[in-house]
Amino acid sequence: MLPTQGRAIAIVGAGFSGSLLALHLLRRCAPDDRILLIERNQRFGLGLAYSTGNPNHLLNVRAGNMSAFSDQPDHFVQWLRSLPAEMRATLPDDPGPNSFVPRGLFGRYVQQLLGDRIWRQGNDRNLFLVNDEAVAMHRQQDGWSVELAVGRKLPVDQAVLAIGNFPPRRSQPGYFGDPWAERALANLNSDAPVLLIGTGLTMIDTVISLLDQGHRGPIHAVSRRGLLPQRHGAVAQAWRFAKLPQGASLCRLLRDVRAAIREAASENINWRAVIDGLRPYTQRLWREMPIGERQRFLRHLRPWWDVHRHRAAPRIDSRIQEARERGQLRIAAARIGRIEHCIETVQVTLTARHGDRSVLNVNRVIDCSGLQSDLAKIDGPLIRQLLDAGHIRADALRLGIDIADGGAAINTAGERHADLFAIGPMTKGASWEITAVPDIRLACEELAARLLILPATQAPPPSSSADILPFDPPARPQRAR
Ligand SMILES: Cc1cc2nc3c(=O)[nH]c(=O)nc-3n(C[C@H](O)[C@H](O)[C@H](O)COP(=O)(O)OP(=O)(O)OC[C@H]3O[C@@H](n4cnc5c(N)ncnc54)[C@H](O)[C@@H]3O)c2cc1C
Repeated sequence: MLPTQGRAIAIVGAGFSGSLLALHLLRRCAPDDRILLIERNQRFGLGLAYSTGNPNHLLNVRAGNMSAFSDQPDHFVQWLRSLPAEMRATLPDDPGPNSFVPRGLFGRYVQQLLGDRIWRQGNDRNLFLVNDEAVAMHRQQDGWSVELAVGRKLPVDQAVLAIGNFPPRRSQPGYFGDPWAERALANLNSDAPVLLIGTGLTMIDTVISLLDQGHRGPIHAVSRRGLLPQRHGAVAQAWRFAKLPQGASLCRLLRDVRAAIREAASENINWRAVIDGLRPYTQRLWREMPIGERQRFLRHLRPWWDVHRHRAAPRIDSRIQEARERGQLRIAAARIGRIEHCIETVQVTLTARHGDRSVLNVNRVIDCSGLQSDLAKIDGPLIRQLLDAGHIRADALRLGIDIADGGAAINTAGERHADLFAIGPMTKGASWEITAVPDIRLACEELAARLLILPATQAPPPSSSADILPFDPPARPQRAR
């Protein structure tokens, strides 16, 4: 039984966003407050991005930018350095701030932070790990009742949706709508041709997995423009804009960024520094953009932005280029038409950018077109129920859940909730740049401060490398099912 005194906050989803928010709440909560971290998967702290077991799925962000705590930028690097020598030896290079390390290892880091906190504060004192799916939320006089798949209802004062990333579509015979599901690559004849829809980082992950499992057959990857993520370059200081960029006009912003790239080039500074220099302003620029400008950005510029902003680790990019050079990986710019499954083959109609139609015969199609953020197309009971009850609504651009400043969810009547919040990639309609760790960790710190208006004194995060515990499997979660 959960104790009933104090405040109770439910966090639905224990990927990076939910786990980090829980850690920040624990720093601020009173002794009898309860944080219920609800996760449908057995492993807490990983989420979609960091649950990969493939050591060749690397972070696409340098380790030096992946600390869980914005006030301790080298926390993750220190943790990497504290790993036992035999684990460090399995890393691609000596871990430092510029390394690109396996994503699974970052998941272990988050898990250990959670385990460490449970160990310091006691299993069932303030943090309760609830291993079940939240399927509905019912409005109570004060707060919410969170219904679990098992049928139990948890009464809470406040709730946060940290439900993260959803796969593109439902699977059908010959077509795999979830590229991260194990079965997408299972039982595949290694000489068979495969079609990957999309040419971004998800496609890259899937190609790496195919190569790692010894795939020899042709891999076709198709997207409207056929653009591939750029490769990370040498470490460079982010460009400092002489005049702060403004978001009111997209054309103007584009002109300013292009001018900065030309100016940087004249000083032998790479375009990457300019894109990185935009990072501190991206959320403000997005908020300044009128809705029509945001729509134009999504229609015309997004693919270009994505491949320049979300870059691939050099070692991964080299493998992709090698696969292209030997003709195994074939990238094309085309629109996907009909997909027809017939016994062993799938026939896919493609329309190239110049209008030519062709038919591609492959053994299977894997959708790597990116994450599904249109709430109407997401197939989860909680989202369905929250939408049907009018508790949440999609943002105007259908990029996720509509929120107000500060993360409060907005209901179908356009009113902001005082006790229901959302955090993470599903809130990108409000701030666009909220999918990667550096932005999410700030949002978690801010939301924790808003939810529990207490100074952060209870249990500060480790303040020096000496406080980082040696690597250890995370503590066994307390289950409150
Ligand atoms: C493949 C991939 C690679 C990435 N690589 C990087 C990177 O290298 N660096 C970087 O900074 N960012 C990266 N990202 C961005 C990533 O979105 C964030 O870093 C971060 O992982 C987002 O975490 P999250 O907790 O918001 O979402 P998620 O990781 O998706 O976690 C959401 C969690 O909520 C749970 N959940 C959902 N609904 C329910 C429910 N109803 N009941 C219970 N549990 C529920 C899910 O099971 C899941 O565990 C990557 C993203 C992807 C998809």
